[in-house]
Amino acid sequence: MPYPGCHVSIGKGYYEAARAAHRQGASAFQYFPKNPRSLTVKSWDATDTARCARYCGEHGLQSIAHSSYPANLAADEPEQMTRVVDSLRNDLEIAEACGSLGVVVHFGIYKGDDLLQGYRNIIRSLDRTLEGWQGRAKLLIENQSGEHARMGMTVEELAQVRQLSRQPEGIGYCLDTCHLYASGQWNGQDEASWLRRAQDTGVLAELVAVHLNDSLHPSGSYRDRHAGLGEGCIGTDALRRLVTAEGLRHLPLVLETPKEADGTHREQLRLVRSWLD
Ligand SMILES: [Zn+2]
Repeated sequence: MPYPGCHVSIGKGYYEAARAAHRQGASAFQYFPKNPRSLTVKSWDATDTARCARYCGEHGLQSIAHSSYPANLAADEPEQMTRVVDSLRNDLEIAEACGSLGVVVHFGIYKGDDLLQGYRNIIRSLDRTLEGWQGRAKLLIENQSGEHARMGMTVEELAQVRQLSRQPEGIGYCLDTCHLYASGQWNGQDEASWLRRAQDTGVLAELVAVHLNDSLHPSGSYRDRHAGLGEGCIGTDALRRLVTAEGLRHLPLVLETPKEADGTHREQLRLVRSWLD
């Protein structure tokens, strides 16, 4: 069963977010569990999250949460790391209550000289967030474009941080097609070799969701600017080939692209569904 989806607002709550996704023809959606610019721990309405989970179950909807932008796994400063960990744990709890597959978190940005310390911080933050976690929702590490730091672009890095963590079973991946392209890991034609590396490193087997975006900038530009399907440098043929590959086609394929004139992703969802039918 295919799961084309899009990002939706929780302005009217989690249940209404699920309904808004379903109304525009999505079978999957992504949401920010709280204000995406803040790491503040949020207390939520358990009735609303339970209604969201029930609605998704009844309508065959899959969902993922996206962590706040300041949630940098590579954060160096101890107080900052604690704030990131507390925020991510809060996101995991909300995602679990909504019946979501997991919480997307970017690989991490480290600006110091000792790059290895950046990777240590990422693993430490993952371990602390997942300490004692018994839920089904996972942390979903997202590949990066390389715009802010040349980190988290390769499947080898994604595989290593999971393998070196204490609770790898609590960690999966989210593949962003714009980031994959912008990072130069994919040029729009060589998806077969990337898929082989993703399989060999074990990343493909742990992939839980895809962010389906075109890219405004060329492959190898390291610039993270999403474009609507067919409105960027990748093009619909290459995107279709990648996401219909075995290992990807049954995952939630979530658009993080600009809304269409009517404020929805209806046409792009229809196009993705036509690739999968
Ligand atoms: Zn993304």
